[in-house]
Amino acid sequence: MSTQFKVMNPATGELVKKVNYNTKEEIKQALENGHCAFKKWSKLNAHTRSKLLKGWSQIIQENKEEIAEVMTIENGKPLKESLGEVTYATSYIDWYAEEAIRIYGRTIPASTETKRIVVTKQPIGLVAAITPWNFPAAMMTRKAAPALAAGCAFIVKPAEETPLTTMKLIELAHEVGIPKDAIQCVNGKGPEVGALFTDSEYVRKITFTGSTPVGKSLIRNSADTVKHVTMELGGHAPLIVAEDADLDFAVTQTILSKFRNAGQTCVCANRVIVHESIVGVFSEKLTEAVNRLKVGNGMDEETDIGPIIHEKGFLKIVSQVKDAIEKGAEVLLGNKYNADKEQGYFFVHPTVLKNVDTTMNIMQEETFGPIVPITTFKELDEAVDIANSTPYGLAAYFFTNDYKVGTYLHDHLDFGIIGWNDGAPSGAHVPFGGMKESGLGREGGSEGIEPYLETKYLSIGHYDQ
Ligand code: ADP
Repeated sequence: MSTQFKVMNPATGELVKKVNYNTKEEIKQALENGHCAFKKWSKLNAHTRSKLLKGWSQIIQENKEEIAEVMTIENGKPLKESLGEVTYATSYIDWYAEEAIRIYGRTIPASTETKRIVVTKQPIGLVAAITPWNFPAAMMTRKAAPALAAGCAFIVKPAEETPLTTMKLIELAHEVGIPKDAIQCVNGKGPEVGALFTDSEYVRKITFTGSTPVGKSLIRNSADTVKHVTMELGGHAPLIVAEDADLDFAVTQTILSKFRNAGQTCVCANRVIVHESIVGVFSEKLTEAVNRLKVGNGMDEETDIGPIIHEKGFLKIVSQVKDAIEKGAEVLLGNKYNADKEQGYFFVHPTVLKNVDTTMNIMQEETFGPIVPITTFKELDEAVDIANSTPYGLAAYFFTNDYKVGTYLHDHLDFGIIGWNDGAPSGAHVPFGGMKESGLGREGGSEGIEPYLETKYLSIGHYDQ
């Protein structure tokens, strides 16, 4: 069995670095070390933990350019997006450095004069995280920061495609004095490390961002030891454009939502549902704007759309577009590819499809690529039905200036994140997470630290009264 894996540059197919797999024994040892570190880290006072987190955020910012370059080289996203992600990643550390000192308990009036009741919040224990390749910095810090702030120890397995950014961030955490075993990184194959994490008696919580099938298996495997779980899984975001919407604004926001990371995010608009009376103008404006996006190597300053991460992702996109065309979709732009299997790069030019309907795979499955499928609605109920007709429930967007339309859509869309005239609603200060098969729990905001805390209730009897 290979003891190393290759990190490849998805824009060129070149080898970036060989990284060692950790052995089973090393990972088991790391889990034990994490458990021991938890005992000390959880006893540190919250102000010290908060200061260490602030130091971590600062040193990441000081190394921002270097980290962003590593990210673009291993992930492919444009350098400007990588720089943005580093700041996004530190915003979680900053937020939870502040939350660390605001973990409050409460007292409850007792039902007799002879008792006092106190409720405290305590860190849950060792937290094991598994993260994806699409946001190698931010998906890790939004788990690590609340875990460390709460007093938990943390261990992460990054995606094999993009371990370098994560490894660098963990190295910097150690450099500012966060104990080596309080935050650790291990490398290995997903199923193998996943099993070591879920089987471990030391791990009290699994936090995962990735695909729904893997999330389901982690939930199942966590049952035997009744671990807590937070799951950020797939999405299939609808974006509804109502009859009265400001179309220029809706176009700009659709592009913002759709094309980040070449469409490879779980909150990317995946199904554009436009009122039939405006679909012609909207499609025209959108196509014109999308046509200006530049495809290329993320290291090139001009690039808006980088490569697709790997062949598997590329083939899924191509097959969805093909299926849609075969079933009657009209190509307004794109359906162009620059791919070389031998060299190992896969670029998809931004594509706009009209006359899409719900029989097409692109309306049923997550795409993870720069494709905009446009379908239409007449009555608002119809738009809601199309939007909700998926097992996913992560993000939904709509554009309208009509208060009644907006509140109706907000109330009826089964999604955890709603952008009303907003194509980019994420942030460290807000609760990010999905309904239905898009996940369990929330990350970010004041909600994001709760999953790392246990509630302990103490009843004190006064037998001498
Ligand atoms: P994607 O298809 O986008 O790569 P995955 O859910 O497969 O999404 O991957 C997200 C993360 O989950 C990666 O770190 C990957 O290594 C890990 N992973 C993949 N399969 C498993 C598994 N069976 N158990 C635990 N982790 C897994």
